[in-house]
Amino acid sequence: MTESWMLNPSKSPESFMTDNPYRRAEFHLSAHTLSQCPPDAGREVAFVGRSNVGKSSVINMVTGRKALARISKTPGRTQQINYFLVGENTRLVDLPGYGFARVSRSLQAHWVKTVNDYLQRRESLCGLVLILDIRREARDEDLQILDWCAAVNLPVHILLNKADKMSFGAAAKKLRDLKSGLGDGVDAQLFSALKGTGADELRRVLDGWLYDRDSRLGIRE
Ligand code: GDP
Repeated sequence: MTESWMLNPSKSPESFMTDNPYRRAEFHLSAHTLSQCPPDAGREVAFVGRSNVGKSSVINMVTGRKALARISKTPGRTQQINYFLVGENTRLVDLPGYGFARVSRSLQAHWVKTVNDYLQRRESLCGLVLILDIRREARDEDLQILDWCAAVNLPVHILLNKADKMSFGAAAKKLRDLKSGLGDGVDAQLFSALKGTGADELRRVLDGWLYDRDSRLGIRE
């Protein structure tokens, strides 16, 4: 069997294992409020999206860790801010989902307060990945999140997930149409958590935010 690292003699198998720093991600803690989050130092990137949009699948794909985000789905953690440590000072954050059927008013209010507080006040947050289902229109909460981020100049990267559900031409048109309406500091790409399409592009965006590498968007001042 030809190992892929053999095609590039400068790379050892070990370097292939460590090339994806997100593979090191480990569950750290769940926070109900901002004050329960880890100390606000270093850098973190958060993932957010409607329930069932594929947020857990995206986190698993980008880290290459199949079961990682299942942790965020365990009862009691779905409405929490779930932290994954990538390095000592580098974190991926799974924000509570929204758009669940039959959600009580108090739970809805809790979501607004938690996510709004987090986006407005978390200094170490350097970018947000907003996940949309390519087949559906953006809904109120999605637009609300974009407004909150614009208000604090937080860069947003939108994933049009489940792109495998469409022909490439139709998906590319969706992306073009979306991009034509985006404001400053917001970018978008096609993604398929099922097939892995777009994972490298997303990792480059995360690298830019977390490690200042190949960044197309600036770090929040
Ligand atoms: P979450 O509720 O946002 O965390 O969503 P999940 O990651 O649990 O995914 C919800 C459903 O969508 C599951 O059945 C996934 O297998 C499916 N799914 C997630 N991403 C994709 C994708 O890119 N393509 C397809 N076809 N299905 C996906």
